Amino acid sequence: MQADELHAEVVRKYSEHINPYLAKLMNFAGFGVEVQGEGCYLTDQDGKRYLDCLGGYGVFSLGHRHPKVVEAVKRQLDELPLSGKTFFSKNQADLAERLARITPEGIEFTFFCNSGTEAVEAALKFAKATTRRAKVVSTIGGFHGKTIGSLSTTGREKYRKPFEPLMPGVEFVPYADAEAAVGAIDDSTACMIVEPIQGEGGIHVPPDGYLRAIREACDRHGALLVLDEVQTGFARTGKMFGCEHEGVRPDVMTFAKALGGGVIPIGAVSFTERICEAVFSENPLLHTSTFGGNPIACAAGLATLDVIKEEGLVERANEIGAVLIAGLREIKEKSELVTDARGRGMMLGVEFSMDEVGELTIAQVVKRGMIAAYTLNNPRVIRIEPPLVMTKEQAERAVETLGEAIEETQEILATLI
Ligand SMILES: *Cc1c(COP(=O)(O)O)cnc(C)c1O
Repeated sequence: MQADELHAEVVRKYSEHINPYLAKLMNFAGFGVEVQGEGCYLTDQDGKRYLDCLGGYGVFSLGHRHPKVVEAVKRQLDELPLSGKTFFSKNQADLAERLARITPEGIEFTFFCNSGTEAVEAALKFAKATTRRAKVVSTIGGFHGKTIGSLSTTGREKYRKPFEPLMPGVEFVPYADAEAAVGAIDDSTACMIVEPIQGEGGIHVPPDGYLRAIREACDRHGALLVLDEVQTGFARTGKMFGCEHEGVRPDVMTFAKALGGGVIPIGAVSFTERICEAVFSENPLLHTSTFGGNPIACAAGLATLDVIKEEGLVERANEIGAVLIAGLREIKEKSELVTDARGRGMMLGVEFSMDEVGELTIAQVVKRGMIAAYTLNNPRVIRIEPPLVMTKEQAERAVETLGEAIEETQEILATLI
């Protein structure tokens, strides 16, 4: 089949059987059909290579098809891909222990699931069961997933409204505002759920002391601190976990995205002994998942942690992140369309003066052989979250490409006015 025929056929099937409105949106941005991934590159139906600066919203921290993860998964595939659900699983035991070792002190236990939103669902249930309270404090612009429970804490009304009534008892406060958070946490609060850096909200880095202030307020009122590290976890921000920037110890941490090494989906929620006892002591099956903690997913997770260590990805995130942010700041100085360039490690964002500019720029970026996307809760911000294995040369090319795309967008806009 010809490449353009293949593209047309896939778009048609999306339109007829998946989601015609989404198909239109994707077609407008000029997206092709993905055919192959390798390292920092994705290849489309034409054989055209794209430098992946979106990294699957944080999934591809190790790049596409990292050989070590692929090998571990293939090996497991030949032994036992999914759990028989009665015996103990060695991979799950190994991964739980590894997570306990690398997470902050006090976080000792892990429940495995398959996605970020499931990890958040478990976190909310565990907080409620442990405290026997119902109030949850969350942040405006925060993203915690789209299943009913998680969605109840996702801070954008547009996504919640059609599904109301949702889980009751959620109070939203502005992000990065310690005073507002501290004011909302009271004696009826089960937990505050918050991202160490707000990802979908537009890559917002809170001021130093923000998480510490929340930690103290939670301690004062017997509430739990749930850190959603689904996007910030595993070296993305230049530390293994986002909470390390402030040295804060949460009660619960949620993970997904990068943990599967970009090869197999996996989610996890890690928590303290107190929570384990409160949730599971009377009923060890109070919360379960059929596919959660399956042997291939855990094999991918174990290989991922090995690669992060062996390839020094925490250091790389700082090193390559510095190249990227310096370039993005230069773009900001030069272009009046760009109002801010910010982020930490390799979780970066570029903010535009208008929503539409981001969209137009993405089309220009794609045309030039690079992939980027805006943040889900803030269309003014284009995120730059490439694989952490990106080279310095690739980082320089990414910045150059984005700069050119913004310049052309500016020219196009000038002809329109
Ligand atoms: C992506 C994301 C989620 C949801 O993860 P899914 O796997 O899409 O359900 C939750 N929290 C944060 C911070 C995320 O970035």
